[in-house]
Amino acid sequence: MFDIILRNLFENSRIFSYNKDGCEIMNLYDLTIEELEDYFVGIGDKKYRATQVYEWLYRKRIHAISEMTNLKKELLAHLEEKFTLHTISLVEQQEDVDVRKFLFRLMDGEVVEAVLMRHVYGNSVCVSSQVGCNMGCKFCESGRRKKVRNLKTHEMVEQILLIEEIVGVRISHVVVMGIGEPFDNYENLVSFLHIINYAKGLAIGSRHITVSTCGIIPKIQEFMHLPYQVNLAISLHAPNNQIRDAIMPINKVYKLEDLIKILKEYIAFTNRRVTFEYVLLKGVNDSSLCAEELANLLHGMNCYVNLIPYNETSHIAFERSDEISIHNFQDTLKKRGINVTIRKEYGGKISAACGQLRSKKEGYE
Ligand code: SAH
Repeated sequence: MFDIILRNLFENSRIFSYNKDGCEIMNLYDLTIEELEDYFVGIGDKKYRATQVYEWLYRKRIHAISEMTNLKKELLAHLEEKFTLHTISLVEQQEDVDVRKFLFRLMDGEVVEAVLMRHVYGNSVCVSSQVGCNMGCKFCESGRRKKVRNLKTHEMVEQILLIEEIVGVRISHVVVMGIGEPFDNYENLVSFLHIINYAKGLAIGSRHITVSTCGIIPKIQEFMHLPYQVNLAISLHAPNNQIRDAIMPINKVYKLEDLIKILKEYIAFTNRRVTFEYVLLKGVNDSSLCAEELANLLHGMNCYVNLIPYNETSHIAFERSDEISIHNFQDTLKKRGINVTIRKEYGGKISAACGQLRSKKEGYE
């Protein structure tokens, strides 16, 4: 039994590192409550230990396994040998009105970004899901360096824990919109969602969690069958294949019409609204013709369009649309009955565009 659990964890590549004897060490923040229950049963202990451990991890926010004082000495020694806890650390942070950006270092020296945004409705964190990204969107800073590796579940969970600790606030909303393509790291993402949503985990309501993807169709199909009411956002950025092919290489694999078709199935099956993100790039996708075409494409769908003023970055030739074009684009969609807003801008002054802080730090700007 124990072997099977360990094998599953290995196959999901969720083992983190090795202890001094060369044994694999797992991270407690990697495990869902069920996995932890199975673990304790597997070593001949009681299932309810998992709940006790979760209490220490997510309520009392311990920093060392030895702080779990209601566990027997032998069990503590066992856990200390098999597991580790916190692995990420703060490298730097930048602050602007209502926004704070964090650069975190991972155990292997790689760095990722996370952003805290303060809204009237609560505190939201944008987490990264990978080191680098392979999707190659032409306008995006994160994709300038290819994917180095997927983030482990615990590295995503830790981004939230560390921000709560540094800032001293509770996070009520999570968006997986930082560096990386979450659906290219699907298994770790799903465990992460489970842990942060679980009442005795971080207890973040599923409707307060949003996953953003560039449109990996097979994963959207899997995602729609998950037992959580997590929101789905799609980085659309174009009203037709010609423009989307030119700026988002993923469109060569999963065509726009197929993406829209699966999203209609998703909406029908889940009864949930889909959000479309549309970054406005001057002279590329911001004409009134594009707005009309987008309205035709989304006609009748239970959806919401979030227009994103482009954050210009050095090295990337795209320009931000001017204010008039942005508002005209919005008006055209509105007139056609599409729910649309312009994204509130956070942190232009602090390199908040996805991947910018990491680029600066790593000197490949
Ligand atoms: N890979 C996922 C999530 C990460 S990107 C996805 O594609 O959805 C998060 C969002 O920021 C995407 O919509 C992305 O297209 C957008 N984005 C990337 N670079 C940007 C920039 N410089 N300015 C504005 N939005 C940007």
